[in-house]
Amino acid sequence: MTSNTRVRFAPSPTGALHIGGAHTALFNWLWARHIGGSFILRIEDTDLARSTEEHERTILQGLSWLGLDWDEGPDVGGSHGPYRQSERREIYLRHAHDLVRSGQAYCEGEAVIFSVPKGRTVAFDDLVYGHIEMESDTLKDVVLIKSDGFPTYNYAVVVDDHLMEITCVVRGEDHISNTPKQLLLYQALGWETPLFAHLPMILGKDKKKLSKRHGATSVYEYRDMGYHPDALFNYFALLGWNPGDDREIFTREEAVRMFDLTRVTKKASVFDMDKLNFVNQAHIAMMPPLERARHTFPFWEEAGLDPGSRSEEWLAGVLDLLEGRGRTFRELAEYTDYFLSFEAVKKRWGGEDIDGERRGTLKGFFTAMLSFPSWSPEELEVMAKAWCDGKGLKMKDVAMPLRWALTGRKVSPGIFHVAAFLGRDEVKKRLSHYGLI
Ligand code: GLU
Repeated sequence: MTSNTRVRFAPSPTGALHIGGAHTALFNWLWARHIGGSFILRIEDTDLARSTEEHERTILQGLSWLGLDWDEGPDVGGSHGPYRQSERREIYLRHAHDLVRSGQAYCEGEAVIFSVPKGRTVAFDDLVYGHIEMESDTLKDVVLIKSDGFPTYNYAVVVDDHLMEITCVVRGEDHISNTPKQLLLYQALGWETPLFAHLPMILGKDKKKLSKRHGATSVYEYRDMGYHPDALFNYFALLGWNPGDDREIFTREEAVRMFDLTRVTKKASVFDMDKLNFVNQAHIAMMPPLERARHTFPFWEEAGLDPGSRSEEWLAGVLDLLEGRGRTFRELAEYTDYFLSFEAVKKRWGGEDIDGERRGTLKGFFTAMLSFPSWSPEELEVMAKAWCDGKGLKMKDVAMPLRWALTGRKVSPGIFHVAAFLGRDEVKKRLSHYGLI
């Protein structure tokens, strides 16, 4: 399906791509992809004091990590870069001078200022918030060009949205109050106005504006925390929108198919880490084992382990043993460190209190276990059960020390599965280190 719909994301590079920005970008992108229209990226870098190239880079990095690609822009060696307002200054100056010539704007030193017409009611029908109107008498004149020769946001946004043929402006609700000024500028320039869809705010769990206090605010940080971009994508889509039923987990393709701008709610949504963790865990569980291992790889490395010395299949097998436990790739790496290195176990261990008598009993069991002909987890378990029954012991009396020696943890996958996976030699090495055989 193709459509003339054109939407845009217009970040100011005054910070990284934060959650609110990424959410706005996502909704624009989803709408463009759903309807077969175009998604434009425009960097609004006219605030010289606050805009930096570094911020622009992190915004682009965040967008590309989330897989939000844009459709056109100036040619940069084969692909297209974003539009940048700083590269379009001539255009803003030209239209500002048109407004001066027609008596709708005036100059004050180097600055150009729009005289807001009196006695007008400015109204628009927001696709999300409905009918909104404002009296022009409540508005002050609007600076179009500052004395440094750069345009202001409210002016440049109108020129660009018109020239870039944007049909629907989808942006944060905090811009509703700017819209009447922008509408007056459209009228003064004799241009048709686009549709507007303002998106609800995203708040922290305490219902306050999202800030560092609520955790990472920059999208790219979530990558380093072990989130999958598809999960963040999925979770963002659920903020202020739902697929019309109670489905919460979906792929990018499904989101594109189901997304509908007219079903966006105006109620502010809450950024809830528990929910994000739930969505991330579901995406990790859905992915093919080798891909899961590939994503976990850097987190093993970060923990000082050497996953490169193992095959991808082996690494995937390790993660399979977790049977869906672990909410992030970081947790997956952490929960499995003992498979990659005995050193990780030595830092923890847990059997310090095993006394001489108990040690003697355990030695008996582990010696029997290591010489048991089969090494399948099921048969090892049957063997252990029989041995414990014979000695009047509980299974956990042997399973717990085995768990400490092999994993250094109180909780792990079935310990005979761990033993079987590590193999007889490695199990023997760890047990003998602790004097248990
Ligand atoms: N540069 C503005 C911002 O980052 C864009 C607002 C708009 O989409 O019109 O808030």
